[in-house]
Amino acid sequence: MPACYEASRCAEAGMDRIDTVLKAVPEDLVTTDQDVVARYLTDFRKYMTGASRAVLRPRTTEDVRRIVALCAEHGVPLVPQGGNTSYCAAATPGVAGDELVLSLERLNAIREVDAPNLSLTAEAGCVLSVLQETADAAGLMLPLDLGSRQSCQIGGNLSTNAGGVSVLKYGMARDLVLGLEAVLPDGQLLDVLQPLRKNNTGYDVKQLLLGAEGTLGIITAVSLKLVRKSVQTVTAFLAIPEIDALTQILARAQAYTGECITSFEYVSDHSLRMLLAARSELRHPLTAPNPHYVLLEAQTASPVFPLEDAVSQLLEQLMEEGLVTDGTLASGGAQRDALWVLREHIPEAEVANGGSVKHDVSVTTSRLPAFVKEASALVEDHSEGGRLSIYGHVGDGNVHFNVVAPVGAVPATYKAWFEREVSPRIYDLAVAMGGSFGAEYGIGRVKLDLLDRYGNPAKIALMRAIKTAVDPKNILNPGKVVR
Ligand SMILES: Cc1cc2nc3c(=O)[nH]c(=O)nc-3n(C[C@H](O)[C@H](O)[C@H](O)COP(=O)(O)OP(=O)(O)OC[C@H]3O[C@@H](n4cnc5c(N)ncnc54)[C@H](O)[C@@H]3O)c2cc1C
Repeated sequence: MPACYEASRCAEAGMDRIDTVLKAVPEDLVTTDQDVVARYLTDFRKYMTGASRAVLRPRTTEDVRRIVALCAEHGVPLVPQGGNTSYCAAATPGVAGDELVLSLERLNAIREVDAPNLSLTAEAGCVLSVLQETADAAGLMLPLDLGSRQSCQIGGNLSTNAGGVSVLKYGMARDLVLGLEAVLPDGQLLDVLQPLRKNNTGYDVKQLLLGAEGTLGIITAVSLKLVRKSVQTVTAFLAIPEIDALTQILARAQAYTGECITSFEYVSDHSLRMLLAARSELRHPLTAPNPHYVLLEAQTASPVFPLEDAVSQLLEQLMEEGLVTDGTLASGGAQRDALWVLREHIPEAEVANGGSVKHDVSVTTSRLPAFVKEASALVEDHSEGGRLSIYGHVGDGNVHFNVVAPVGAVPATYKAWFEREVSPRIYDLAVAMGGSFGAEYGIGRVKLDLLDRYGNPAKIALMRAIKTAVDPKNILNPGKVVR
């Protein structure tokens, strides 16, 4: 059988639907070797392992278009997968084995860098760090940044509407999108890829696909906003005696630096201690332990604005007022990297301690200190010995409120118990405080129940109506986001 998308001939041969599709896709785009396929079947957090007969790895948008059209014709569901770093098993196929994985990893060309237009157009499978380096080489900056930058792909970032460490200044992934190219569930090509800042020509349909976790279309390319590269970066690690001061410190920092704060990341003492114990080569950056820390970063593209002076004066003032008791400053290079390691490697320390129950929640920045205190008290009341690991992008109201099993407990047993008995109280609290049960990781498979519980019924009905209208055969990523 020639490998040329000729499905009808295979169907005549009486093959099942998946065989029909697999025989019709060019051989070099299909991997059925189960040793290789296995690499695509388990999610990053090892929450679940699915099954699939094959992984399809298109090289071009036209390959994607043909594969999706074939799958639509034969009713074979596809699970799009980027870097597979999802924290909610959004890119993992189900266990039944009736879905095919569509990996975008080979669709990784950079189509254009338009420096005067401050834009970059690239295919969905480009790894985020590669795009950051590409922008950098053009003297510009892609201001999307997250801990998984070396393996997540831009298509996955957009499909999860990723957040990360620069949201405070530059917004979520969707805020950086100028144009989009995608394949719709019937195989049609949606081409609204122009890198335009103004384009009011009807509904902004690309927004539907951003954050849709692959349920409404396969993103094949994107035009992204770039910004001028920072020429000054100042990073500070601050000790904060009272968590209530966070909001005031953030407001003051923004005012002092003229809104140059790009990151305002919280690290609890528990999390830092867990990391230092797990990675003996790391050092505490301050002289004495404190209950709370903030990693603050300010950046500017201006060569003349006195950024370092502004941050130094800020610290002096905060220390005089007792809002900050200790701190260290780094102006780029290895010193800066060393401070970021202390923030970004906390998940690793959790894994070294048997993993954590994660609550990726958000509240308004003004309520965040109260949330952290009340949620911590809940854990103390309901789970003696549970080890809190609290950190996150608190500058935008997002806190990772994680709990590690008590020393000596069996992590898997404890986590299952905690998720059942205590997690609902934490989510109830976040929602009661006007917050969200899912700040940046999305719904995937893992948070479907939470969406049922806390989602606005009208919103859920509208989501279902959109899914049914755009993907009536439920071909794309079934079982994720909408039931
Ligand atoms: C160490 C670490 C740190 C992290 N930090 C952050 C953080 O700070 N902020 C944050 O938001 N997330 C974070 N994450 C979660 C994760 O990295 C992000 O959700 C990321 O955007 C996922 O990208 P991916 O390419 O790995 O997508 P995948 O995990 O492969 O897929 C994610 C979803 O997108 C869909 N998808 C993938 N590609 C496409 C495409 N081309 N078209 C349509 N659908 C597609 C998948 O079906 C799935 O639903 C972190 C993860 C790790 C491991």
